[in-house]
Amino acid sequence: MDKLTMQDESQQGRVGALQSQADPKLVEQWHAVVARMRKEFGDSVYNSWLKPLGVLSADEKRVVVGAPTRFMSDWVQKNYIDRLSDFWQAELGHPVVVELMVNPLAADKTADAAGATAPEPQSKAGQASATPAYQQAARSEQSATDALCAPIDPRYTFDSFVVGKSNELAHAAARRVASSEGVQFNPLFLYGGVGLGKTHLMHALAWEIRSRNPNRNVLYLSAEKFMYEFVRALRFKDTMAFKEQFRSVDVLMVDDVQFIANKDATQEEFFHTFNALVDHNRQVIISADRSPSDLEGIEERIRSRLGWGLVADIHATDYELRLGILQSKLEQMQGVEVHDDVLEFLAKRITSNVRELEGALNRVSAHASLMGKPVTLDVTREVLQDLIRANDRRVTIDEIQRSVADYFNVRLADLLSARRARAVARPRQVAMYLSKQLTARSLPEIGRKFGGRDHTTVIHAVKRIDELRELDASLDDDLQHLSRVLGG
Ligand code: ADP
Ligand code: MG
Repeated sequence: MDKLTMQDESQQGRVGALQSQADPKLVEQWHAVVARMRKEFGDSVYNSWLKPLGVLSADEKRVVVGAPTRFMSDWVQKNYIDRLSDFWQAELGHPVVVELMVNPLAADKTADAAGATAPEPQSKAGQASATPAYQQAARSEQSATDALCAPIDPRYTFDSFVVGKSNELAHAAARRVASSEGVQFNPLFLYGGVGLGKTHLMHALAWEIRSRNPNRNVLYLSAEKFMYEFVRALRFKDTMAFKEQFRSVDVLMVDDVQFIANKDATQEEFFHTFNALVDHNRQVIISADRSPSDLEGIEERIRSRLGWGLVADIHATDYELRLGILQSKLEQMQGVEVHDDVLEFLAKRITSNVRELEGALNRVSAHASLMGKPVTLDVTREVLQDLIRANDRRVTIDEIQRSVADYFNVRLADLLSARRARAVARPRQVAMYLSKQLTARSLPEIGRKFGGRDHTTVIHAVKRIDELRELDASLDDDLQHLSRVLGG
């Protein structure tokens, strides 16, 4: 049966389903069994897991019970099958084996007039917004996932993603996960600063996975949407249905997971969802603006679990990558002519992130097409005056800290901590030094950003690095590299 018919029947075909009911005696026995289960496990388990089931057939040795989705069937098998068998046995008076199978209409077939598993009365069904997700989830995995899945932007593919030194690891990791049949790395965790291509890579992954196997149930959404759905489920006391929806996917992709920091209940639920999927060998893909260990406001056990798979970071772009991206975007905008020196100028000056770089190119090319001729460097400077000025002072202390931590391979949290070990103390001084050099922040402001240190500590760091730089050529190289990357 295809998805469409399934959905149709579940929405308007209840009458038809009721007509093809199972044997009345069997239905009666089923209700007796379910009633005992309900008594033992309570209403919440009944509503979430038992009510959507139905008996399909029975003979001397075997009772076949239908569950609306594979996930539900697995869950019932794991948690309730023993008691279900006991009660059937008691009901029939001889040993039987209870088997589960997936059948979206099983519950309808066993609904009876007494109402134990009957559909909700019309008036209640009228509160459409309260339960549509549940009803969809119970009847068709695909449609529930579709309803939750954020739209995938067709422009964000692997083909349109330009690879450079700063993103090659993340790109390779994403490619690998997209093309592997089994689950090799779980989760795949992609992180990097804003506008550096995380969402682009997530969409590319979703496209690729779906195009390789259209049957794989891929759910992509932001962490914010996850929270929103969860809060709604809580409000409607429908968290079991929420769990069911999320746990029935093959690939779960959550973008910007840092959003759930300090949101305890959402975190908890996310963690359970995550574990359930990983236990069932389903792929989980996460993005965030920082590494798992640096996700403040997220519980330690979750942070550590997030780092168990493959963690890949996207660094700030370098000049070559920016130029490559500009060239590639320009090729896509057929017929627009922008001189190389303009592209080079943009790559050099718009260092904040790729989103702004694209914006700058769009403005320049719009100007060119209005004027009917390629723009010169002077015109570019003028058109982009505000953007360039903003980029010149855009480097933030946060970015500096992140880049320095990356570069010296220390944790951001350590950089800001009180630890005095040389392995973190020197990078910390470098970061303070660069903050003084590349931003307009005052010494006390810089001190505060480094775990609330005193301004005299910052003065000391700046002096120390200035001295060392003279003596130590490799430190000088490090500093030059870092200020180049940071657009200084
Ligand atoms: P993030 O999610 O990391 O904040 P996005 O994925 O939204 O960033 O990227 C911002 C913009 O920059 C998007 O339009 C994206 O297509 C583009 N972009 C980022 N990195 C690249 C890249 N390596 N190649 C091509 N386009 C890129
Ligand atoms: Mg994003």
